[in-house]
Amino acid sequence: MSRVFNFCAGPAALPTQVLAEAQEQLLDWNGRGLSVMEMSHRSPEFVSIAAEAEQDFRDLLDIGDEYAVLFVHGGASAQFASLPLNLSAMGERVDYVDTGLWSQKAIKEAARYADVNVVVTAEQNQFTEVPEQKIWRCSDKAAYLHYTPNETINGVAFEWVPESDVPLVADMSSVILSGPIDVTRFGVIYAGAQKNIGPAGLAIVIVKKELLGKARQDIPTCMSYKVVADNHSMYNTPPTLAWYLSGLVFKWVKAQGGVAAMELVNRRKAAKLYNAIDSSDFYSNTVAVNSRSLMNVPFTLSDDRLNSLFVSQAEESGLLNLAGHRTAGGMRASIYNAVPEAAVDALVEFMSVFERDNG
Ligand code: PMP
Repeated sequence: MSRVFNFCAGPAALPTQVLAEAQEQLLDWNGRGLSVMEMSHRSPEFVSIAAEAEQDFRDLLDIGDEYAVLFVHGGASAQFASLPLNLSAMGERVDYVDTGLWSQKAIKEAARYADVNVVVTAEQNQFTEVPEQKIWRCSDKAAYLHYTPNETINGVAFEWVPESDVPLVADMSSVILSGPIDVTRFGVIYAGAQKNIGPAGLAIVIVKKELLGKARQDIPTCMSYKVVADNHSMYNTPPTLAWYLSGLVFKWVKAQGGVAAMELVNRRKAAKLYNAIDSSDFYSNTVAVNSRSLMNVPFTLSDDRLNSLFVSQAEESGLLNLAGHRTAGGMRASIYNAVPEAAVDALVEFMSVFERDNG
């Protein structure tokens, strides 16, 4: 078996051990003679898979009983609409922080349903730094304050959690499970699965139970957090395979020592890569040091004409998906939990050889 090092931003690398375990159980889950994909979501077998995955996820992030954990369809993008529909009345004021493209997508969608106030935008620094909170212009009264702790495309991340008098909402799609978080600071945390959680097709929403009664009357039923919570995420058929595989990932994260242990490795991986970039005149990353993502590391080469050569030679060396997002250009290495430190070592080595040959 030969597995490449995969730096894809999402759907991203999964732990090889998880895939092997899923393969072993694929035709015959636990001697039941059928696969997880073929089980009724209401069968005792799947209900136990689902409950165990939720409990492991709660354990990893230390999520208390005052929060519901929802396993839903539609990716993080569906949450861009779900949030205002669940948490605000029609036309009510909602506050948003803009630190990049994913913030902007959330803002654009929310503006269809609510009165969006952009409290600050990082545009003035070309989206290379998180604006400090003292310059934010929050509304007197907003239904919630939304931000994106890790911008997957420009590699800009918050090292801190904003202060907020209103429920704080975070799109943690590309950062969840990469380290400990204090869930009690948040009203809602949501994340598409296909980076640090599991395969695409699933999103997880952590929502404070006291916020469950606020949805609009005309919200699509399957988007209502309350309906989903009351039905243990089985109001309609959930993405069962993605839920199951995510459960295997949670067990894998636990076996690595949990999210605190993951963070240590993630910090080491990111430091190695940023060091390689900063110590060279050939590679550069313009993000302010205090706002650099540990998960998504964008960088450029000194000459853009070398981009395609870099990508193709990297591929030949077993380093996949390094081209930057189509809107950003350059390169981007996504180094989520399941990307091993050896992958970063191999990338750093490749970058040094490429610079020597082309610099
Ligand atoms: N938010 C962030 C921060 C993301 O990185 C992404 C996907 N790259 C999304 C939202 C959208 O996720 P989905 O494709 O699951 O809708």
